[in-house]
Amino acid sequence: MSQADQNKEQYSALLQRLRRERPEGVVKSEDRLKLPDPRTMVSGKKTFWINFMDFPTLLQRDPDDFLNYFRRELAINASIENGRAIFMGRPDKQSFSALLQRYLRERVICPVCGSPDTRLEKTGKVLTILCEACGARSAAK
Ligand SMILES: [Zn+2]
Repeated sequence: MSQADQNKEQYSALLQRLRRERPEGVVKSEDRLKLPDPRTMVSGKKTFWINFMDFPTLLQRDPDDFLNYFRRELAINASIENGRAIFMGRPDKQSFSALLQRYLRERVICPVCGSPDTRLEKTGKVLTILCEACGARSAAK
């Protein structure tokens, strides 16, 4: 079995597991893309995003790049520890859901065919969405 096939199998196994474990509270942004809601918890001056790793895993994005998007948009420092993201501040819960939806629109969903099966390619500072369904190359924001 090739590495790509293995990744694909792990990906669908994870998808199935998440679907089983969280039948409710699922964000429906596209028929073929089912994501859990971001689960966050505030403790002192920090906000913990408990299920953070589910997102870059399901979306096949680099966890650091994914975190950077939120760090930049929220203007709050953050790091990944033990699969959770820790933000050094207390943004409200809605911000995470709203930013996640924006991330999907700007960096995941193919603007040509609407498929979430895409990859992000970085050339210098230019981000391109490569669609695995229709083959389109689109500029990411
Ligand atoms: Zn496409």
